[in-house]
Amino acid sequence: MTHSAPTAAIETDAVVIGAGPVGLFQIFQLGLHELSTQLVDSLPAIGGQCIELYPDKPIYDIPALPFASARELIERLVEQNKPFATPPHLNQQVDRLEPLADGRFEVETSAGTRFITKTVVIAGGVGSFQPRHLKVDGLAAHEGSQLFYGLDDPARLAAQRLLIIGDGEAALEAAIDFAESATHRAASVTLMHRRDEFKAAPATIGRMRELCAAGRMAFIAAQPIGMRESGGRLSALQVATADDRMPWLELDAIVAFTGVSPKLGPVAQWGLNLERKQIVVDTARFETNTRGIFAVGDIVTYPGKRKLIVSGFHEATLAAFAAAAQVYGKSIPLEYTTTSPRLQRLLVAKSDTR
Ligand code: FAD
Repeated sequence: MTHSAPTAAIETDAVVIGAGPVGLFQIFQLGLHELSTQLVDSLPAIGGQCIELYPDKPIYDIPALPFASARELIERLVEQNKPFATPPHLNQQVDRLEPLADGRFEVETSAGTRFITKTVVIAGGVGSFQPRHLKVDGLAAHEGSQLFYGLDDPARLAAQRLLIIGDGEAALEAAIDFAESATHRAASVTLMHRRDEFKAAPATIGRMRELCAAGRMAFIAAQPIGMRESGGRLSALQVATADDRMPWLELDAIVAFTGVSPKLGPVAQWGLNLERKQIVVDTARFETNTRGIFAVGDIVTYPGKRKLIVSGFHEATLAAFAAAAQVYGKSIPLEYTTTSPRLQRLLVAKSDTR
């Protein structure tokens, strides 16, 4: 993520930082109050911990949803948000949050997207997820050109000699795809993980082994230890194998699925009261010590806080009432979605047309 030239600022009622389950529900709750919203996340996909850490694990404690995989929960939140959602700003971390003289805030992301907003809701969870980088001296210089953490454009790697690193579904699927694709088949595909054990679905592991047996891709149990360049380009990676060999793998590009780790990062620089790396909020408005900046979900602390999705949903509901009261300059009466003509116009009319 690099800084680029500033663009025209997007004006909005609320910027929600973090597209985990709580940030997504926050968009819905703010929408009920007819506040315009913008959603930002440092990850390339929405869903926060649910998608990044446990997409296929079951969740049993969401009200009225006796069982759902974490992925399904996120899909349902997206469906619920349809009347209000604008396209999220993904793959960009909110770096800067500054108050303006007129009471609004200026928010800027690592991609140079700027917002002028009346309120901010921080739903940053355990922090901004960042890819775990490969620790080989000099390798970082090739990130974005020959080294990729995750994959957004497979076509650009067609016909290249690829090293795919990782043991999860995404790594194996990418390796299989590059070995089989009609449109972006690689010149060669090597999958690398430190052990010959994988966390992917059995069918995916089975397909990967079939392709290896057929000579259409290779697997090596090893870890990277060094690199070689030629004419300024990365030309080979040296690896240490489990049986103490140190071969060089000639390659054109590396795609690493090495997981992510959360960093509180810039949130710590915004002058908010923190307690053990969590934002202190009041439990009536879920507001921080700065008026107009609210915080919800795993990133907050208050007496009795439990890091559960259902707690975050409650917090988002009250934060939305408080944000709306601030934007409209009056207290907001309670309305039921079941009976309020205003809410029905927003929800039912828009649901009918989708
Ligand atoms: P997160 O899901 O952490 O999302 C926060 C998002 O904010 C992230 O995507 C991050 O990249 C983004 N972000 C942070 N800072 C920035 C920034 N500066 N700029 C841009 N983006 C930023 N809870 C339950 O209720 N029931 C369960 O059964 C359950 N099972 C779980 C199982 C596991 C294995 C784990 C790890 C957790 C489980 N949880 C469960 C907890 C639940 O996942 C969390 O409570 C929930 O994800 C919190 O949601 P959130 O939206 O607050 O934060």
